[in-house]
Amino acid sequence: MSILDIIKTPYTAFLNWRDFNIFKKKIGSFAKGSRLVIFDIDNTITCTWPSLLVTYPNEKSRVLSLAVNLNCLSYLKEKISNENYKVFFLSHRSFKIKQCTIDWLTSVLDFDANEKVFFTSSPKMKLNYLEFASARIGNIEFIDDLSFNHEKGARLLYDEVINKVRGFNNVEYKGVDFLEKLDDENYYFKSRI
Ligand SMILES: [Mg+2]
Repeated sequence: MSILDIIKTPYTAFLNWRDFNIFKKKIGSFAKGSRLVIFDIDNTITCTWPSLLVTYPNEKSRVLSLAVNLNCLSYLKEKISNENYKVFFLSHRSFKIKQCTIDWLTSVLDFDANEKVFFTSSPKMKLNYLEFASARIGNIEFIDDLSFNHEKGARLLYDEVINKVRGFNNVEYKGVDFLEKLDDENYYFKSRI
């Protein structure tokens, strides 16, 4: 194991902790009765999986080139423009691409995404966010495909995580079925090749 690997693990743990703490403070500042919308990014707002089959000069250029699912984008914009909703993004992505993700969202949405984007190192860690929010906010909508492996042929679901998400009473979960209906013409949900 290189020195870099030894440093990397606690540093990533710190970044996870930091994002979760910012989220907790934000949630704590919301008035009772607020409505929270939590959006995933990959394969939810964007067509991510085809980009994993192409070689890019670096991760940043891959992220900045991602295509948007147009109906999902309209749905999201509708929530952002409604003052009754607080909109956050919760993504399982590398912290290395966090700033370019914020820049990308800000440009695509015409909305300041700073301090509204939270990253986790696994899909399972998203449950901590939902658990914390659901204890304080009465009405939460969670839009997330919670799927993986599509670029390898068959899309699989994070069933264990999905079951736990469905277990939160005040969380309305909108997963692949919802996204598929929303962007039914979208190639990213079709079988690969
Ligand atoms: Mg996703």
